[in-house]
Amino acid sequence: MTAQTQLLITHARIATLGAEPQLTEDGALLIQGDRIAAIGTTAELTTQYPDAERWDAGGQLVMPAALCAHTHFYGAFARGMGIPGEPAANFPQILERLWWRLDKALTLEDVRYSALVCLVDAVKHGTTTLVDHHASPNAIEGSMDVIAEAVGQAGVRASLCYEVTDRDGPKRASAGIAENVRFARSLRSKPNSLLAASFGLHASLTLSDETLADCVAANQDIGLGFHIHVAEDIADQGNSLRKSGKRVVPRLRDAGILGPETLAVHCVHVDEAEMHILAETGTWVTHQPRSNMNNAVGVAEVEQMLRAGVNVGLGNDGFSNQMFAEMKASYLVHKLAQRDPRAMPGDLVLRIAYANNARLARVFWPHATLGELSVGAAADLVFLDYHPTTPLTVGNLPWHILFGVEASAITATVCAGRVLMRDRKLLTLDEEAITARSRERAAEAWKRL
Ligand SMILES: [Zn+2]
Repeated sequence: MTAQTQLLITHARIATLGAEPQLTEDGALLIQGDRIAAIGTTAELTTQYPDAERWDAGGQLVMPAALCAHTHFYGAFARGMGIPGEPAANFPQILERLWWRLDKALTLEDVRYSALVCLVDAVKHGTTTLVDHHASPNAIEGSMDVIAEAVGQAGVRASLCYEVTDRDGPKRASAGIAENVRFARSLRSKPNSLLAASFGLHASLTLSDETLADCVAANQDIGLGFHIHVAEDIADQGNSLRKSGKRVVPRLRDAGILGPETLAVHCVHVDEAEMHILAETGTWVTHQPRSNMNNAVGVAEVEQMLRAGVNVGLGNDGFSNQMFAEMKASYLVHKLAQRDPRAMPGDLVLRIAYANNARLARVFWPHATLGELSVGAAADLVFLDYHPTTPLTVGNLPWHILFGVEASAITATVCAGRVLMRDRKLLTLDEEAITARSRERAAEAWKRL
């Protein structure tokens, strides 16, 4: 869409979210270029913009598109993958038996199809901003470009990084560092408004002090924030204490990793002093309850972190890019863990998923207003064919999302003014071809495990 093109969505029930949320019945929204240019009623905006191309939403609910603060596009081939031997009994075994076997089996072409599969899923589920964390130890160089191409094809917004780790030896650790630096430089020389970068690190437990220092040094002139798993499992703390005499968060702080542009993923096993450090340094924490439940690592103390002044966003750690499902998991798990139905109220879940994730996204897109529908905000939105059987208001919207909206309600996705899905039909990605090719590639990758 050029800057002059105008697309007027009419007859929508518009839920704006944002600082002053509104619900407009028979609403209209004007997209101009990649931004929202006007929001009002259908009667008002059709009079004001008689020449704009129209898109009748037919009474559907129109909301801001979802954002995902942490994901792994490389994980798609794990679906249904059999792992020989005894089932993993703890988190380090899950890493060794599942993820570190799968990622080693990936070629650059697998990386592309694994990403495309996740991107189809993202567009279908109205998630247009994603922060990815990639690993493919036998196909490191160029992997960021391959993912960037897939993201470009899909038409979503993504921040990419390669996870540096010592687990595959010093050569691959150096190659991981080089890939982060190379991609950041290439983005700088060829800017793309929908792409961004961070400096990826796997986790404290697979990184020596020397490698951390190498990453900080390599990052000097590219100046990215870091993106690292932090205290996902208790094993990360034991390892850090053995290696450095410090817990994970102070270890990372002392290494120069933390700060307002750094993403500390999970933070399930951080204590009060570590929360204080995260707050003090302005470091972002991302919460992935489905992954934490699946790995049986524990429940992050999200509300306590928020009370301590920590910035917390919501990711999916490679689970489906259906962020409503992640919101629902978050809503439920804290109540169970605390045995308190007042824990993690619905409005807080939505605030983390939209307002906080939108602030987190500013690390990568400092000029984009995301997670809300307002004049000047990015035209990132989703249509839901949702016709509630009870009254829907601004105040009770979170509970409609958590109890009423299913993935099947999503019919259209728009990112930066570009329509990526309309009437459930994908417009930028060929799902059938991607599915067929992915199935072939995954079968081959499984043979190499
Ligand atoms: Zn992760």
